[in-house]
Amino acid sequence: MKPAPFEFARPTSLAAALELLATHPDAKVLAGGQSLIPLLSMRLASPGMLVDINAIAELSRITWDSSGVRVGAVARHADVEAHPQARRVQPLLSKALRLVAHPAIRNRGTTVGSIVHADAAAEMPTVLRLLEGHVTAASTRGTRTIPADELFAGPLESTVRKDELVTEAFFPSLGERCGVGCDEIARRHGDYALCGVAAVVCSAPDGRVTSVRAGYFSVCEVPTVVELSEVFASGEFTDRALADAAELAAASLDPVDDIHGSADYRGQLARVLTRRVVRAAYDDSRARQAEVVG
Ligand SMILES: Cc1cc2nc3c(=O)[nH]c(=O)nc-3n(C[C@H](O)[C@H](O)[C@H](O)COP(=O)(O)OP(=O)(O)OC[C@H]3O[C@@H](n4cnc5c(N)ncnc54)[C@H](O)[C@@H]3O)c2cc1C
Repeated sequence: MKPAPFEFARPTSLAAALELLATHPDAKVLAGGQSLIPLLSMRLASPGMLVDINAIAELSRITWDSSGVRVGAVARHADVEAHPQARRVQPLLSKALRLVAHPAIRNRGTTVGSIVHADAAAEMPTVLRLLEGHVTAASTRGTRTIPADELFAGPLESTVRKDELVTEAFFPSLGERCGVGCDEIARRHGDYALCGVAAVVCSAPDGRVTSVRAGYFSVCEVPTVVELSEVFASGEFTDRALADAAELAAASLDPVDDIHGSADYRGQLARVLTRRVVRAAYDDSRARQAEVVG
């Protein structure tokens, strides 16, 4: 099928893009097009205008400092994944981005577009939420910061307003003595996951666990984070605590049931991946500390 007719604009400044969004209530932003174009082609969306933001140079920036990484609206997944400073400041970015689709899609699709699209099956909305990041949304009315916890309203639904353009996403840096892990189970490499987990684990110099959080994608209707620190309250990282963490996660999640997998199956995948990913994040935290000492 072909898309319904639409007007097309390719502004070269942010101000011009915001003016177009303000004056065309049925306009949609076009970033990498990897989610929007299929929706148009299937006529699941039929905006009156597409505002292509790819010619706005300032939106392609990736910047960083000790507080975190700022990813501009047209920075491609592949650019963020390969960015050496972004990898160093927040290593979960490249770990999760490697799992997003195939290289061809990562070369075109944007990290911010994926977040605004708010697909609970996608990696980056969950990563933003797990890291307690935020996005900056601009309109002719001004700019506002939307914390990740307030961004995902429902399946494929974000709280970004129709006349707003998200200019950047901010991913806080990885804390000292913390490590990350991310893994998923998909039917084929590059497919959306049947279930995916990302985790941040922090530990003291003596190896005792100080905090554990895990984020789940392709499990619930929205990106979901579960605080797992309580099962490691003794500080010991044991198989028993890992098994308890997996059970706590499964009990806290409300998995979807669809043609790709039943809720029970997704719950079981979440258990298995929680054990695997929390262990990897703990090992990563120990390895990073060993590097600093060494
Ligand atoms: C075959 C295939 C497999 C895929 N597999 C995966 C996968 O495994 N994991 C995964 O995470 N993704 C996957 N994707 C999606 C891919 O990551 C997309 O790039 C991403 O979801 C959307 O980014 P985009 O830049 O292409 O956005 P677009 O398609 O251009 O836009 C998506 C939506 O967000 C809005 N939007 C985009 N940017 C902004 C902005 N700055 N401000 C306001 N609104 C905005 C658009 O209006 C639109 O509604 C896959 C895509 C394909 C085609």
